Amino acid sequence: MVETCDLFVIGGGVNGAAIARDAVGRGLRVQLAEARDYAWATSSASSKLIHGGLRYLEQFAFALVRESLHEREVMLRVAPHLVRPLRFLLPVMRHQPRPAWTVHLGLRLYDLLAGRTGLPRSGRLSPEQADTWAELKPDDIRAVLHYPDCQVDDARLVLSLLLDARARGAVVRNYCRVTALTPGAQGIEVTTQSGDGATRRVRARVVVNAGGPWADAVAALAGAEAAAAVRLRLVRGSHIVVRAPRGASADAYTLQNDDRRVVFVLPWLDGRLRVIGTTDVVHHGAPETAVCTDDERDYLLAAYNRFFRATIDKADIVWSWAGVRPLADDGKANPSAVSREYRLDARPLGGGTLLSVIGGKLTTHRTLAEEALALLESSLGPLPPSWTASAPLAGGLLSRADLDLMWRAGPDVVPADIRRRWAFTYGSDAQELFARALEPAARAAVAPGVLHAELDHAVQVEDARRAADFLCRRTTLHLTLDADDRSRVAAWFAARGVGDVVQAEA
Ligand SMILES: Cc1cc2nc3c(=O)[nH]c(=O)nc-3n(C[C@H](O)[C@H](O)[C@H](O)COP(=O)(O)OP(=O)(O)OC[C@H]3O[C@@H](n4cnc5c(N)ncnc54)[C@H](O)[C@@H]3O)c2cc1C
Repeated sequence: MVETCDLFVIGGGVNGAAIARDAVGRGLRVQLAEARDYAWATSSASSKLIHGGLRYLEQFAFALVRESLHEREVMLRVAPHLVRPLRFLLPVMRHQPRPAWTVHLGLRLYDLLAGRTGLPRSGRLSPEQADTWAELKPDDIRAVLHYPDCQVDDARLVLSLLLDARARGAVVRNYCRVTALTPGAQGIEVTTQSGDGATRRVRARVVVNAGGPWADAVAALAGAEAAAAVRLRLVRGSHIVVRAPRGASADAYTLQNDDRRVVFVLPWLDGRLRVIGTTDVVHHGAPETAVCTDDERDYLLAAYNRFFRATIDKADIVWSWAGVRPLADDGKANPSAVSREYRLDARPLGGGTLLSVIGGKLTTHRTLAEEALALLESSLGPLPPSWTASAPLAGGLLSRADLDLMWRAGPDVVPADIRRRWAFTYGSDAQELFARALEPAARAAVAPGVLHAELDHAVQVEDARRAADFLCRRTTLHLTLDADDRSRVAAWFAARGVGDVVQAEA
């Protein structure tokens, strides 16, 4: 049997999720298939910033920076549980290529492009505030500037988009790979295969290829002409994670490295950890082979040690990740210079339309979705106006201040540290977990801080199929649980058989 829908999205990263959500909210019948877990690829391997991209000012990408800064405001409004303001300190050293006044000017421009915002303006710390940068090597510091941006839980951002899309009627599946695209007179037939081997066929008027770094392979399913239109430049970016030293600043740092690149040092998980990244290296080979190489690790360690008094080495690294930016190939030799602007390619395929998404940023996923739907109006007919700028994502109903009140007032039977973690993971939806935990059996712990209630929610509501889905993307518990406790969670999944179903796909 062939099902039908208006729009079929391939890829459950941030761009596919945003397009599916926007489309279903405008009354279209939408389906989405993700080959592995939602957000497992680029969308959980980012620097986790919702930001204007200060460095793009040097590339004169003013439109991109303005759009991103505008989106920063929108995201603070619609996903307050996942997006938090962060102050960035930007030290300017005597030996650096950019003089302090140009950096200062850049920050002024950043403020100007941001327009009216709820965040503080940029500025320069005074010598009386030297305590603030006590961690940095004092020699050669000419100035320490500061500016605001935001940090996000990238994997949960994708999940919040998808849960909202599903609540509005979209059919959303993980561990479901698209294996064929067949043009037909009435649209495009999409064949999918699930982890258990089941195949399905769905005929769609429009297919959106949001395959990220696999967008070329997805386009190839539609033939050579479609494949030729999607030329990607794969640029790998790696991050390392270290334990934050005692007395570490709650601020982030933007370090100007000697090669003119910037490297971020970001507080993470309530300041317990520090993320250091990223790199820009041309990636050869399949996107899924991306790992942080020894060279990238050493590059990041060296950048950190150039600025901080307490140096670190590879023994301090507790985690690392690498992602591949699926950028539009503009022929530039320097991977750092390849544009971060996205490109949309729409072309007829049989009686339907194939739209491919190339490039983009986490920050601009919403406007990318709006542009995609505007482009598709010629295939789908006039659509209702855009609506996503003011509609909260799943879990986004309460401000951070209200979330703080919510977890404090939550049920006493759930320990306070768990209530707090739930509030800033699930946002207003943490109420659902509180309700589940009223049942005594659901309050039993599988591992320290991990209750049955949360695991049941992850499987039944958030489609977690494997321990890694839960530990790495529904939560960040892979970083705080020890190996034995992670095994307990894995055993819980194995006992339910949900792990086995997807082994073949993983
Ligand atoms: C190192 C790094 C740092 C970054 N930092 C930031 C940042 O701080 N802020 C920011 O705004 N942006 C940042 N970005 C950019 C941002 O992360 C990406 O633009 C964004 O995540 C891309 O999302 P996507 O949905 O296009 O791709 P992906 O997240 O890669 O999703 C594509 C999905 O398609 C699926 N797929 C592929 N083929 C099939 C198929 N046949 N069937 C079904 N599914 C399929 C894949 O499994 C995958 O999940 C960064 C990127 C990198 C690499």
